Amino acid sequence: MKIAVFPGSFDPITVGHVDLVRRAAPLFDKIIVAVGVNSQKKALFPLERRLEWLRRVFVADHNVSVDHFDGLTAQYCERVGARYLLRGLRNASDFDYEKTISQLNHIIGHGLETLFLISRPAYSHISSTIVREIIRGGGDVSPFVPPEIEL
Ligand code: ADP
Repeated sequence: MKIAVFPGSFDPITVGHVDLVRRAAPLFDKIIVAVGVNSQKKALFPLERRLEWLRRVFVADHNVSVDHFDGLTAQYCERVGARYLLRGLRNASDFDYEKTISQLNHIIGHGLETLFLISRPAYSHISSTIVREIIRGGGDVSPFVPPEIEL
């Protein structure tokens, strides 16, 4: 079975994340969208809420499941039998950051491969960080998040 893990904070999930998962879904038998619980990063939304949104968004995507993990992504992949990571690239700064992480994961994950999809132009300006800023400022984020999310 070709299993990919799509790790992230998903704080909250955006239409950019959804697009990436749906474009990658035909390439794998299964994609696990996994919320990494990062003790260093203080999330805006509680883990349970982020998971509930992910479950709702992907309920009809038959080969997509939702999970969460503590600690190293590479160790989580080993536990669930995933040999692939899925990540998105929006711009050059994503590339610089992702390159290092993927090279590290290849070593500590014993050949764990990261598959990158370039963001669609319509979504390359969307990030959870921007969405959180708009929420904090009391703006409307409906163009950036899937309709399953109520804030
Ligand atoms: P992290 O905290 O690990 O950066 P995110 O939830 O912010 O987690 O992002 C997870 C993944 O989704 C990253 O690979 C990121 O590049 C990708 N991603 C985020 N927004 C978009 C977007 N608008 N289009 C394509 N990929 C995206």
